Amino acid sequence: MCAQKKGRVFSGARPTGRQHIGNYLGAIKNYVALQDEYDCIYCAVDIHALTTLENTDKLQENIQEMMLDWLAAGLDPQRSILFVQSHVPEVMVLHTLLSMVTPYSWLTRVPSFKEKARQQPENINYGLLGYPVLMTADIVIYKADTVPVGEDQLAHLELAREIVRRFNHLFSPTFPEPQPKLTQAPLIVGLDGSQKMSKSLNNHIELAATPEETHKRVMTAMTDPQRQRKTDPGRPEVCNVYSLHQQFNPDKLDDIAYKCRNALRGCVECKGMLADGINRELKPFRERRQGLVERPGYVKEVLADGAQRASVIARETLLEVEEKMGLKAKA
Ligand code: SF4
Repeated sequence: MCAQKKGRVFSGARPTGRQHIGNYLGAIKNYVALQDEYDCIYCAVDIHALTTLENTDKLQENIQEMMLDWLAAGLDPQRSILFVQSHVPEVMVLHTLLSMVTPYSWLTRVPSFKEKARQQPENINYGLLGYPVLMTADIVIYKADTVPVGEDQLAHLELAREIVRRFNHLFSPTFPEPQPKLTQAPLIVGLDGSQKMSKSLNNHIELAATPEETHKRVMTAMTDPQRQRKTDPGRPEVCNVYSLHQQFNPDKLDDIAYKCRNALRGCVECKGMLADGINRELKPFRERRQGLVERPGYVKEVLADGAQRASVIARETLLEVEEKMGLKAKA
């Protein structure tokens, strides 16, 4: 007999193409684990990707590549719904309807809107301002009650909860208030030592890279800047190679730290050990991914099935909302 699931999880990610180890350790691994306890709905948010108008020529390829990574990492289309946001257009209708109950001042105070407006002053579009409303619609159209978030996304989710509360107050209880499920993900620093591994900063290692590519990328990583020569003692606590060892060679940390501090191992050899650790950990993932690549049309099938299952829930919710807002006669 199936165990009772705790609730419904929704999460969406911008389709950024091939995922990197920061995406894996920061989000995907958690998505996979949540499938055991929750009904999960995971979505490539292609409409959100349009707010910055980046790489739209590669949007379809990026969706395909991201989904291959998600599937190879263990997202299971039998247990979870995997789909593309725009394939369930009801969410755009709900976005419009929720926008009618969302005060303008709630949106202009959102820090990420101010930041994006600063970053792209030539394209401060409505989509940027309305992003939290669409995000709310994404969650509530599936009546999800749980959203995995990092600390940095708590403010967005709080706004979604405010919109839900307002709608429920105006039109009677309709949506559950989505609760944050804080992820205890490690912060994965970039190879260049910057705070976050990111594709746009080109400081990342793709999950699907070959072992040789991985080795080459790791060799470019910054280490302790004070360690100029092999004979200089190093400081593992400030070295981003060491922080990656914590993820990929947890059983060798004492040896790595000791030999670093006492200048008994050079950085090139130490990086080689890291590349080996990453390649060892990702070998099963890469084999599964290759198997999926050799099944043309498989990702399309998964996404079509996911969109169909998501549509059933979305249509039902939208009808309820339209009736409550007086747009449709009650059945
Ligand atoms: Fe970093 Fe390893 Fe070099 Fe020490 S030996 S500074 S941990 S790369």
